Amino acid sequence: MMPIEFRWVDLIDIFTVTVFIYYSLLWLQGTRAMTLIRGLIFLIFVYATGRFIGLYTINWLFEKFAPAIAVMLVVLFQPELRRTLERFGRGRLLGLFSLAPVREGSYYVRSVVRAVEQLAEEKIGALIVIERMMGMTEHLESGVRLDAYLSTELLLSIFEPRSPLHDGAVIVQGERIISASCLLPISDSRLLDHRLGTRHRAAVGLSEVSDALVIVVSEKTGIISVAENGNLIRHLTSELLEEKLFSIYRMEKSRLDLFGWGHGKIKRAQY
Ligand code: ATP
Ligand code: MG
Repeated sequence: MMPIEFRWVDLIDIFTVTVFIYYSLLWLQGTRAMTLIRGLIFLIFVYATGRFIGLYTINWLFEKFAPAIAVMLVVLFQPELRRTLERFGRGRLLGLFSLAPVREGSYYVRSVVRAVEQLAEEKIGALIVIERMMGMTEHLESGVRLDAYLSTELLLSIFEPRSPLHDGAVIVQGERIISASCLLPISDSRLLDHRLGTRHRAAVGLSEVSDALVIVVSEKTGIISVAENGNLIRHLTSELLEEKLFSIYRMEKSRLDLFGWGHGKIKRAQY
């Protein structure tokens, strides 16, 4: 027998299949298609056993019905299949080859930046937590659950001084506002300017115990600040804030979402 020659394209071949299977499973996790996959694996197992020990009737049945099953699957899972292909078409992988660089997450970043600009201009106090790797379950529970799409208008309505939700912090997870009116831990750091009140101390406090980025708008001065890793950066311009948010969204995207799949789902599955 000829020895099998290993070519470098085989490596690409294997890698592509591995990545494909990995992301398919990641995407299927928790959907109704996952039950189907389990069923299929069971059928394949029965078929293989049947062939191995020579159960002719079972083999006959499988061979007769295999094409019918394939057609049935396509019909049953037509919505899922279509969605997958659409996502694949829109995803990162193809994006890599496109000429115009698209800024990932620009809609959400702009929504936050526009809201912060307007809040600062009108001197409306605000506290916005941008979640990263660490979940905020503990702090979510102190607030009011929203789980709504992020928009400038929604942020402005929440912090509107007469709104029942304006007190406390808003927590943003990916592209959703998941909670408002949340209570954050107050920092007792002596390094902070003693003129800063509880809003700023709450921002620093959360950034000390988590990897979140916390945006503060002062109601007294309209100054925009950002707390990160226990540090408070004051007098932030909206351009700087935009850059910071873009870098977060870019990092989160590439971590979870190589193909543009599953971002929302994984983030939402955390709580
Ligand atoms: P500003 O410059 O806007 O006055 P400040 O740092 O002086 O801010 P305070 O005047 O004490 O802060 O702000 C009080 C508001 O901060 C509260 O009404 C509430 O909305 C918010 N806040 C205070 N403590 C917390 C906390 N632990 N978690 C979340 N929000 C808080
Ligand atoms: Mg104050």
